[in-house]
Amino acid sequence: MLNLKGKTAVVTGGSRGIGEAIAVKLAGLGADIAIVYVGSEEEAQNAKAKVLEQGVKVELYYCDVSDFAASEETVKKIIEDFGGIDILVNNAGIVRDCLVLSMKESDFDSVINVNLKGAFNMIKHTYSHFMRKRKGRIISISSVVGLNGNAGQANYSASKAGIVGMTKSVAKELAGRGVTCNAIAPGYIETDMTNALSDKVKEQVAASIPMKKRGKPEDIANAVAFLASDEASYITGEVLRVDGGMAM
Ligand code: NDP
Repeated sequence: MLNLKGKTAVVTGGSRGIGEAIAVKLAGLGADIAIVYVGSEEEAQNAKAKVLEQGVKVELYYCDVSDFAASEETVKKIIEDFGGIDILVNNAGIVRDCLVLSMKESDFDSVINVNLKGAFNMIKHTYSHFMRKRKGRIISISSVVGLNGNAGQANYSASKAGIVGMTKSVAKELAGRGVTCNAIAPGYIETDMTNALSDKVKEQVAASIPMKKRGKPEDIANAVAFLASDEASYITGEVLRVDGGMAM
């Protein structure tokens, strides 16, 4: 049985969807949880209540991860409040889908800034903390479209491919310090992000998946829990697909 008692996990975008499921799962294994969110306070409070049911400490931090200075302040505050960080989960993400033909510069910039630079900011500000501890887990949420591309998602797939390159680079930098850095590439998961698609598109995508169904946020949370655990201490620089065979 995986055990994260005594550890502190930071989950960006932990207020709903996959991030909330990750926060609840890690809490269920005993980790204290810092949830970083930027949108609805109500959603964040709901997630906090679910984590609290697991009997661990949980705090909410309002922070736009694409903001370098705000991320630094947030990491400092979390270290003060919890006494340290053991697990960083870069989950916050947005989409601004459309063909390049009609993609605005701001659609490209905002997706790269949140999905890729946001993950960089959080890694940058926890980096020396993990180095000093000679221990730590960094897990970033990529996507199958970062591996295979997808029409209408040039900005998003570039950000998710960037996560893969950054993960492998950071893994190489920190391997000698006992810090692992891995990514998870989810396929098509049931959350607000994919619920926004039309029923027809949902059916078409599900039909194209070898397992013929969408995944659940908990499927991603289970993989994060494993990579965060001591059992995964010899795994670094890995990109784990959790996709029902979608990108096989
Ligand atoms: P949701 O849209 O349901 O949730 C996104 C989360 O990210 C929210 O908690 C949101 O916070 C947070 N967030 C967005 N922007 C920022 C920001 N600037 N700073 C801090 N937090 C932010 O998405 P999912 O749960 O579906 O996706 C989670 C991750 O998984 C994303 O990185 C996504 O790209 C990735 N993914 C999802 C797939 C899917 O099929 N759903 C497939 C592959 C990858 P708030 O609620 O406060 O706005």
